[in-house]
Amino acid sequence: MEREKGYPGKEIGVMEEYLADRGTYIDWNGIIRSKYLGFIFKDTEMRKVFVKPLRKLKILEVGDTVLGRIINVSGVFGYVRIEAVNFKPLDRDFNGIVYPHRIVNRIDDVYREGDYILAKVISKVNRSLHLSIAEPDLGVVSAKCSYCGGKMRSIGKNKLRCMRCSNIEMRKLSRLYGRVI
Ligand SMILES: [Zn+2]
Repeated sequence: MEREKGYPGKEIGVMEEYLADRGTYIDWNGIIRSKYLGFIFKDTEMRKVFVKPLRKLKILEVGDTVLGRIINVSGVFGYVRIEAVNFKPLDRDFNGIVYPHRIVNRIDDVYREGDYILAKVISKVNRSLHLSIAEPDLGVVSAKCSYCGGKMRSIGKNKLRCMRCSNIEMRKLSRLYGRVI
């Protein structure tokens, strides 16, 4: 094993050469790159490469407020890629699961794929982060129109209007809609 320093985006190998392990990603050209600042480990025997972060990574705790993007909705569950915690960007990927704060008829009226939400970590069960959007400051903070992709403006409680095509949609809006991202 040899050791050199990596930084986000640094080229550290190619797919044909190594297996891209933790702390790395493969770009469109099959080049393995470092995800963050850290030491690069190339295991030539096992033919894998990984990056160990320089500083201790932030671990998310119950009670933290997170900003994330809904990458998929399945049933009522929203799968969230968390991008910031307590308004500070994260240097590694975290995923969470959000679900409605009450029984709803249409999950589309609560959140949709592509929305950014502000949520609170309410539990860590089976190593997965469960998120709540029940409080007034929590919920959708940025959304695009489902018809035209235009920017949506809040026009009242849980109501959005597209600034381009005037389409009206519902969400569980955060009081901070439009002010976070
Ligand atoms: Zn629109």
